Amino acid sequence: ALSVSGLTKRFKGSAVLDDVYLDVARGEVVAMIGPSGCGKSTFLRCITLIEQPEAGFISVAGKPFGREVVGGTVHRQPRRAVDAMRPKIGMVFQALNLWPHMTALENVVRPQVVVLKRSRDEATARAQKLLADLDLADRGDRLPHALSGGQKQRVAIARALAMDPEIMLFDEPTSALDPELIGGVLALLKDLAAGGMTMIVVTHEIGFAANVADRVVFMHGGRIAEEGPPGRVLKQPGDPRLQAFLSLIR
Ligand code: ATP
Ligand code: MG
Repeated sequence: ALSVSGLTKRFKGSAVLDDVYLDVARGEVVAMIGPSGCGKSTFLRCITLIEQPEAGFISVAGKPFGREVVGGTVHRQPRRAVDAMRPKIGMVFQALNLWPHMTALENVVRPQVVVLKRSRDEATARAQKLLADLDLADRGDRLPHALSGGQKQRVAIARALAMDPEIMLFDEPTSALDPELIGGVLALLKDLAAGGMTMIVVTHEIGFAANVADRVVFMHGGRIAEEGPPGRVLKQPGDPRLQAFLSLIR
């Protein structure tokens, strides 16, 4: 579903991502862990082209996305092709994704109409279905400020899902939530995973990584330092930096 090769991103000369390779298969759930500042958010932001990497190649569903930099030569894609692919990648951030002046329903309807050119009726039907699936059927007419943090996050997830993405990227989707709201959002991610959604979840929830992920990727200093099935990576970490990291967050 997603292929990333040789991704390198520098800020002011220093490499925040250093030659990162990651292939995510269709339906695979990858949990990404690592210390603060190791480049996890930057990695997701490069995949969505919010940030432009200095080097590397990204493809989504077998099609190149963005630009390819090989030996200093930049191969650009036409803007139209890039824009057509953007909605294939759904991204949910740590907090405050929603447009504050629009109702929950409108937050889910609007991008379908604007980006995918769906009719308002079709978009509304889809949004209502998603909100109902996410246990928000009676919250559609509320403005974001009148929703709990967990509900807001679920609306943000509904909005991304409404675009029928190829892959969903989650950047610490529960870290801004009160403890009692975390479980609901994690349960939703678990349902999405069970439904076959391809996803990368940056998280500090090791229990979630252990139970839901097919693969755990440990980032350190802009590189993937260790990866593999959660049973091995989390229980028998080889890299001493991963051992140290796990002992700190457990
Ligand atoms: P956290 O767990 O705290 O969210 P992270 O792994 O997501 O950390 P990033 O946000 O990707 O880390 O940041 C990686 C490094 O890149 C950090 O050292 C950060 O200061 C730096 N960085 C990120 N964005 C920028 C920017 N726009 N300009 C300069 N440096 C940046
Ligand atoms: Mg981050």
